[in-house]
Amino acid sequence: MAKTWYPVIDDSICSKCGACITKCTHGVYDAQKAPVPDVANGNACIDHCHGCGNLCPTGALRYFGEDTGWIPPRGQSLHQESACSCGGSKAVSKTLLIEYLYLDLQTCERCVGTEDVLQEVITVLTPALELAGYSVKYKKIEMSTREIAKKYRFLSSPTIRVNGHDICATMAENNCGCCGEISGTQVDCRVFKYNGETFEIPPKEMLAERILAAVSSKKRRVYLSGNYTFPENLKKFYDGKESKTGCGCGGENCCG
Ligand code: SF4
Ligand code: SF4
Repeated sequence: MAKTWYPVIDDSICSKCGACITKCTHGVYDAQKAPVPDVANGNACIDHCHGCGNLCPTGALRYFGEDTGWIPPRGQSLHQESACSCGGSKAVSKTLLIEYLYLDLQTCERCVGTEDVLQEVITVLTPALELAGYSVKYKKIEMSTREIAKKYRFLSSPTIRVNGHDICATMAENNCGCCGEISGTQVDCRVFKYNGETFEIPPKEMLAERILAAVSSKKRRVYLSGNYTFPENLKKFYDGKESKTGCGCGGENCCG
């Protein structure tokens, strides 16, 4: 059993080739749905196995609980160190993946402001991290639908993760007028606590500190482990957004 380790598929880049389903001999994927990958039995996934992710030609596979610095090789030569009989790898690379998960970058001042600060901090830190041997990757992921939000086990907007771990050890929120306007309902978004103060847009000192701390930390954030419950607050947001647009598909050119 590996309740804190299982594959997570990025549908936006998955080519539905079915290689992951063929690779896994542990019944994690629903074979009936091949070649479309469906993680039907995540509990059967072998802890720290990267077998399917190492084969994925598009880099669409990540792992919940990832703490090794692994990133999809995307066609690079596979690691040899085997973690289980299906040929997975436990090799560690010095990659720093910074993910920015947000609800909206068009009108939400909190999401836009946080992204601006994060981008600035990454720009400043990257040369030093590269000097220390890290490869820094930055990925922005819009939680445009509730399905995407659930897949990323999204709890609150905005969220910053370093190698899969939230940079905040706790979560606090207050009312967000912008996201309320988008969804036509009252919605709470994240606030950041730092040095005894609360910020809707985190100060750059805080982000720099947390990113550097995450580089050396091996700890998992408590609320990113175990079971995930889709927050009622986000449910309200998506319900409201869908009823305003009349569509929940999140497609850019949809409903035009
Ligand atoms: S990581 Fe390994 S055990 Fe888990 S689904 Fe992929 S191949 Fe199967
Ligand atoms: S191997 Fe990768 S691209 Fe192919 S189906 Fe699995 S997740 Fe999708």
